[in-house]
Amino acid sequence: MGSERHTEVIVFDRAGEADVLRVTEVDLPPPGPGEVVLRHTAIGVNFVDIYHRRGLYPVPLPSGLGLEAVGVIEAVGPEVQGWVPGARVAYAQAPLGAYATRRLIPAEALVAVPDGIEDETLAAVFLKGLTALALLRRTRPLAPGEPALFHAAAGGVGHLAGQIARALGLNLIGAARGAEKCAFARAHGYEATIDTSREDLVSAVRRLTGGAGVPVVYDSVGAATWQASLECLRPFGMLVSFGNASGPPPPLDLRELARRGSLYVTRPTLATYWADAETRRALVEELFALLRSGALTPVVGGRYPLREAARAQRDLESRRTHGSLLLLPTGRTSS
Ligand code: NDP
Repeated sequence: MGSERHTEVIVFDRAGEADVLRVTEVDLPPPGPGEVVLRHTAIGVNFVDIYHRRGLYPVPLPSGLGLEAVGVIEAVGPEVQGWVPGARVAYAQAPLGAYATRRLIPAEALVAVPDGIEDETLAAVFLKGLTALALLRRTRPLAPGEPALFHAAAGGVGHLAGQIARALGLNLIGAARGAEKCAFARAHGYEATIDTSREDLVSAVRRLTGGAGVPVVYDSVGAATWQASLECLRPFGMLVSFGNASGPPPPLDLRELARRGSLYVTRPTLATYWADAETRRALVEELFALLRSGALTPVVGGRYPLREAARAQRDLESRRTHGSLLLLPTGRTSS
């Protein structure tokens, strides 16, 4: 039994740079009540994994890492209903531990993978696409044609937001660093882009909106863009702050929202949407429909062997990547 349960896991014992990640090998115990053993086939790399590793979002240590993967159920514990060995499943919120060849996971975290959706495709789109959908459809739904600014437009969440916007007839302006990333964002649904390596964000947004500013900014960059994001908004506009790639935004003086014209600020997380069963079901269904229709075609910007998780994270945090990054438990990779 030991060899079947043999698994390779990425763990870290202290918060820090990517070199704190190490590979360890364990034998998984049998699944407990409500749990299954899942063999991963493709693992999604997300910027939140870096927040966990750095200690920005503290977790008890030592810890595994990773919130999202696709795989096949190998064994089912007591009290698990509706799942059988051999089922293809995915998850996008779970106890940390996706960076592993296998894992134990609560069955309630799993979603069945429909036929016709490849494992790598789903791992590239699940957490990030659900985030983009939740932002555009639920946090501050955009009306067709209403302009909105989306930061990190060539990134994992960003390029999927562009594709969803195109499918829904929404008008997103993408901000990204460098001409190549801007071209990539436009090719994936952004109506216009702002190259932040050479353009002033606020002036560019004013220029693109006839001086009015945008009613919504979706900002995942945080510290570095916070002030400019507020300045890009028109009165009654909303700043949707959903990440901290450059560090957490500064504390907010509410008087600033008044001064700039009755602004709104919100800080959504996918976890909140996922926690509500009906919302989760609706978002997942919509995501699968977009995949099946061909509207959503995630771009895998890098594939890394699981053992090279540290390299994947270094690439992501150094802003070198575009699209979604995957860790593959076995074999086939190129990056
Ligand atoms: P990305 O692929 O978008 O990578 C992050 C991008 O942020 C970079 O490519 C870079 O784009 C931009 N960036 C700007 N400044 C920095 C900086 N100082 N360091 C690193 N990157 C910087 O990552 P993901 O798609 O995984 O995630 C995108 C964002 O969405 C993250 O902030 C993440 O935390 C957030 N998120 C939030 C969720 C939620 O529930 N609230 C769920 C999922 C993701 P450029 O060089 O073009 O500026």
